[in-house]
Amino acid sequence: SMASPPLLMRVVASAYSVAEKAATIVRNVMSAGDLGIVEKAGPNDLQTKADRLVQMSICASLARKFPKVTIIGEEELPTDDVTEDLIEDGHCEEILKKPCPAQYTGIKEEELVIWVDPLDGTKEYTEGLLDHVTVLIGIAYGGKAIAGVINQPYYNYEAGANAVLGRTIWGVLGMGAFGFQLTEAPAGKHIVVTTRSHSSALVNECIAALNPDHVIRVGGAGNKIIQLIEGKASAYVFASPGCKKWDTCAPEAILHAVGGKITDICGNSFQYNKEVKHMNSAGVLATLRNYDYYASRIPNTVKESLVP
Ligand code: AMP
Ligand code: MG
Ligand code: MG
Repeated sequence: SMASPPLLMRVVASAYSVAEKAATIVRNVMSAGDLGIVEKAGPNDLQTKADRLVQMSICASLARKFPKVTIIGEEELPTDDVTEDLIEDGHCEEILKKPCPAQYTGIKEEELVIWVDPLDGTKEYTEGLLDHVTVLIGIAYGGKAIAGVINQPYYNYEAGANAVLGRTIWGVLGMGAFGFQLTEAPAGKHIVVTTRSHSSALVNECIAALNPDHVIRVGGAGNKIIQLIEGKASAYVFASPGCKKWDTCAPEAILHAVGGKITDICGNSFQYNKEVKHMNSAGVLATLRNYDYYASRIPNTVKESLVP
């Protein structure tokens, strides 16, 4: 029959193409050379022309196709009056052909919340650490992150001029995640990945308590989840407020789709219903494997300093 695929699969298939358009905008703004940097809360909370254009592109493109879905983006910008050149109306045909997990086939537009981080790792983008940057589109239902798209616009940028630049990772709970090679971290080693530009005494105290073999400091919540699913790190540990629901929604869906786990530092799961507070006040703890090992070693003093 010609019945339309379930809504969730149509949203993910569109989000995939919308994220690829976003990646093109991120690269074009950088190559044009004028980043148009604006400080939001302070010098460690930046917005560039790419954050602004991508926010408008993603939110307007998805709102046009799925008008009753709630879309919450990081940047406070209007979604009406978006110029046509920013609109993406394509979708990934391959995603549409895949079967939707049975528990999600009846979802209606009004029941979905899409959390958009147009450019995650803005600080690193402005400093030329381009592979730290991701575009995040997370899809929530019933308060849970159930699907997500992570585009890494500068994947492979250090591999030379012939390498294919950029990639799109996507996943749905109950289906798995695609667009990368799932890799285990080195056995018996504790490799912690954390913030590079938002450290604090508490962030460092928490990491020290885990006595890791190695600490990787890179920008972006999306980038750090990629480090976990590609076996570069065994735990993402961030004992600080600062990270928001749009930072964790897409990464959470993809990590959970491959059997990992993400919570705040105290072990509470994140909620993604539209009324939820944006700030992840009690930080982030995420692993692909051995979540309990890390959770059991977070000091109580650290947990008590972070109130959800
Ligand atoms: P990071 O690991 O420092 O790249 O942070 C991950 C995400 O959380 C990025 O989107 C950051 O902008 C955001 N974030 C973390 N800490 C802060 C902070 N103190 N102020 C503003 N944004 C933050
Ligand atoms: Mg972010
Ligand atoms: Mg951002």
